[in-house]
Amino acid sequence: MTEFTNDLEMMAVVKDKPEVGFSYVKKSISTDLLPDEVLIKVNTVSFCGTDLHIYKYDNWAKNRLKLPLTVGHEFSGEIIKIGKDVTRVKLHDIVSAETHIICNECEFCLRGEGHICENTKIIGVDTDGCFAEYVKIPAQNCFVSDKKNNPLHLSVQEPLGNAVHTVCHFDIENKDVVICGCGPIGLMGVDVAKACKAKKVIAIEVNEYRRKLAKELGADYVINPVEENVEEKVREYTNQRGADVVCEFSGNKYAIQSAFKYIKAGGGLSMLGLPSEDITINVADDIVFKGIHIYGVVGRRIYDTWYKVKELIDNDLLHLDKVITHQFPLSKINEAAEVMNNKDCGKIILFPKE
Ligand SMILES: [Zn+2]
Ligand SMILES: [Zn+2]
Repeated sequence: MTEFTNDLEMMAVVKDKPEVGFSYVKKSISTDLLPDEVLIKVNTVSFCGTDLHIYKYDNWAKNRLKLPLTVGHEFSGEIIKIGKDVTRVKLHDIVSAETHIICNECEFCLRGEGHICENTKIIGVDTDGCFAEYVKIPAQNCFVSDKKNNPLHLSVQEPLGNAVHTVCHFDIENKDVVICGCGPIGLMGVDVAKACKAKKVIAIEVNEYRRKLAKELGADYVINPVEENVEEKVREYTNQRGADVVCEFSGNKYAIQSAFKYIKAGGGLSMLGLPSEDITINVADDIVFKGIHIYGVVGRRIYDTWYKVKELIDNDLLHLDKVITHQFPLSKINEAAEVMNNKDCGKIILFPKE
């Protein structure tokens, strides 16, 4: 066993200037650990929508971040050092991180609802992240993976968890399911809905590249909301009944308003996408008298969602090779961000070591 006692030199993606872009810089990381912390050598990382907000340095990023910050939160890596009190993981475990660092003490944590902990901190947003050769996280945030799995697939477990949490909250087996918005997480949603035996999966997406990918992942119908009447199409594909379950990934105002129209009475609406403005809804007709259920999706249920993700990956029930469309060395981070910004992509993976 190598004993790390000195600082480690590494290359890392850092947000250090209040402007568009990332810096790829040499940085040192102390190998001193808190009693409950682990040090991880990062094998693979994936690029998230959150990272794009940070890249662009939009209003959310401006208000939230304290620079300089090592960014990134989605990864798979190997534990190379553990703090003195750590017992739930061990050296050489392959792990990914539940990226919400929760307090374990608030009302929600104590009720087993840690995903809505009121003191949540996020790795790569509020603490230094994983777009680097090494990262330190609390042991309680580690989720151990089976070593036989493809490291590319393991790096996307966290966003896949968002998809699973959204799609599987309501019972979808043998149900008509709409996936609204096919960015990387929505695409995973299509894959998850098929794997979990939805009767029909109807995908709605404006971008042609992503519509094609949704189709390849097994969506039974794909709707282009710019050219087609979404409500009419969903009704046509569901014998005029409407969708049993709608999974909202787009955050788009018009997409959300139409979801309330084509959802079936008694149906379930699972909402992950974040609109940037207030939205007018006919509460009486479209919620109350329709008797629908609305669920707000925050992160992943800790660790229920992760075990469901693990089951899907370990049993090879998904098509993550199709969802993962681009791979870059970490040094090309700004190029990767531009690809994500142009939207002609699924999930993007990066490698810290070239
Ligand atoms: Zn993410
Ligand atoms: Zn809490």
